[in-house]
Amino acid sequence: MKKILLITFFLTIFLYAQNDKKITLQLNWLNQFQFAGYYMAKEKGFYKDVNLDVQIKESNFNTDVIKEIESKNADFAVGRSSLIIEKINGKDIVALCAIYQESPLILLVKKDSNINSVKDLRNKKIMITPDARYSAPVLAMLSANELTINDFMVQKHSFDINDLINRKTDAMASYISNEPILLNEKGIEYTIFNPKDFGFDLYSDILFSSSEYIKNNPKITKDFYEASLKGWKYAFENLAETAEIIYSKYNTQNKTFTHLVKEGEVLKKLAYTGNNELGDFNDNKLKNIANVFKLFGLVNKDLDLKEFIYKENKPKIINLEISKQEKNIIITILISLFLIFSLIIILLRKNSQTKKLLQTVINSSDDLIYYKDSKLRYIGCNKSFENLLAKKESEIIGKNDFELFEEDLAKVFRREDFEVLDENNLITSNEWIIFGHKRIFFQTKRIPFIYKNKKIGILGIARDITGLYEIQEKLKKQTYYDELTKIFNRKAYNERIQEKFDLFDRYDTNFTIAMYDIDDFKKINDTYGHDIGDKVLVEITNEVKSIIRKTDFLFRVGGEEFVIIFDKISLDESYDIAEKIRINVSKMQIIENEKITISMGITQAIANDNPQSIYERVDKLMYQSKRNNKNQTTKG
Ligand code: GH3
Ligand code: MG
Ligand code: MG
Repeated sequence: MKKILLITFFLTIFLYAQNDKKITLQLNWLNQFQFAGYYMAKEKGFYKDVNLDVQIKESNFNTDVIKEIESKNADFAVGRSSLIIEKINGKDIVALCAIYQESPLILLVKKDSNINSVKDLRNKKIMITPDARYSAPVLAMLSANELTINDFMVQKHSFDINDLINRKTDAMASYISNEPILLNEKGIEYTIFNPKDFGFDLYSDILFSSSEYIKNNPKITKDFYEASLKGWKYAFENLAETAEIIYSKYNTQNKTFTHLVKEGEVLKKLAYTGNNELGDFNDNKLKNIANVFKLFGLVNKDLDLKEFIYKENKPKIINLEISKQEKNIIITILISLFLIFSLIIILLRKNSQTKKLLQTVINSSDDLIYYKDSKLRYIGCNKSFENLLAKKESEIIGKNDFELFEEDLAKVFRREDFEVLDENNLITSNEWIIFGHKRIFFQTKRIPFIYKNKKIGILGIARDITGLYEIQEKLKKQTYYDELTKIFNRKAYNERIQEKFDLFDRYDTNFTIAMYDIDDFKKINDTYGHDIGDKVLVEITNEVKSIIRKTDFLFRVGGEEFVIIFDKISLDESYDIAEKIRINVSKMQIIENEKITISMGITQAIANDNPQSIYERVDKLMYQSKRNNKNQTTKG
């Protein structure tokens, strides 16, 4: 017996000890707020809750995070957008989430340096990691300002802010969440040049692993991913507590507590940009990043999004995810438009080789892209535009809208172009365009731009948002309709009754409202079941719909409570209709040998009424019918 107890004891200990699976997370820099979510998932027990014991390893300057995953030294790691390059070039990388929706990498100059714009960096010293994989957004920004690598002096990065302070360098590639804070602390004024402002918008701190690991450890991956995101949410919601934990337990860089809090504040903004969910990827943004890398000759293929993004991160249930999908589409439109505008502006000014590259990028877009001169004649377009018109660019160039489109459509375009030129600003328009047999809902952005000899032309990007439009229509329907009975719901009622009162107050347009509730409905549900209950609701609704006039509205305002708004009618007249409804319902044979009745109240809008007062009144009248033995209509 003793033996058995002992074995059980050790077995329990053994199983218990087995419970927490040891895994390793490799960071790509020294400990700092940048990785706060992982520390907090550990410290708050979120990893422990899913039986994970996570070792968080900071990097030394030579750590190659991809190698760490490849060699299985680490199970998960944090990397930059350059992971996309490695992925395209064949490495086994799967991205779980991107903590920072914008790259923190910026160029920093001192205010007293007289460098006021990126262009002023010509012939200056810039401290930057020469590896384009790391510096791509900064190099892209310089290039967008007509500075190639020969136009400035590249210095080896010392990662020492004093070199900027002491003018050993003119500009330093920095982290927006770190060096500016250090300069603030020293009271030194500075200017930031952010690649994002030029359309080069990258992710940062991508949590990743390999497809091999994920395939072999699906549960660990899912648990680690979810617990990490929980940690991140906690960290950003509790900046001070998080800073304190980093200060006391993870402070290998000896940062001050205040510095850590400030770092957290800046990083939080980078994590929640626009409407994104924490960690989310956006397909089009990823494609655009890959295009920027293409532009720099770092890759020559497209990114396979399906292989790159961890599938748990993708919406699974379409129905529930419609609004999220819609959100994503909108974000996508904004991001890609900004990038494309920047690229075209470069295109129009650059030499022929860069032009060719950029033309390739523009051609890869599904959007219709075109540019017109000051006389509104086309001077260029992309493949999608060619395809829509079924004409080659050479047949389009030099023509105006009247020579390419039907007159009515050309007139619309002309009017909108003039508007852009008048306002000298970006203008967005949404419209259905019927082209041949196709009917497409386009969102078009037009922006004026300056080309040769200060002439002003128009750059247009039109996106087919027919799908988005349809989703919006569907959503609208969903928000105002009741699924079961297919009539308006309470939300629709609230809006409609307010409208009615607005009209009533202004034009004295009288109306009445009736409310009815099914009598003893609980009993029907209890006796015949919920499905039959549903059937009763639907059939009574159909009956009511067949009696009311086209100008009246029927709403399901509660479980089995309905309201009818009778338009422009006296109380007596509407009472007659209400009575007809009540009597007809009582004669229906929905369930065999079961008489189903309704009780009603009916009243009309009077001076000084409002949505609430009329609702309370009709509700009381309806209950009066209930108290008087049900199956009747009370007017008042
Ligand atoms: P009364 O005559 O006083 O109205 O009695 P009642 O039993 O109808 O009481 P009440 O109006 O409070 O009952 C509402 C019931 O309606 C309770 C709920 O189970 C049922 N119900 C609400 N919505 C639905 C629905 O969508 N389908 C079905 N089958 N039943 C519903
Ligand atoms: Mg009832
Ligand atoms: Mg009820």
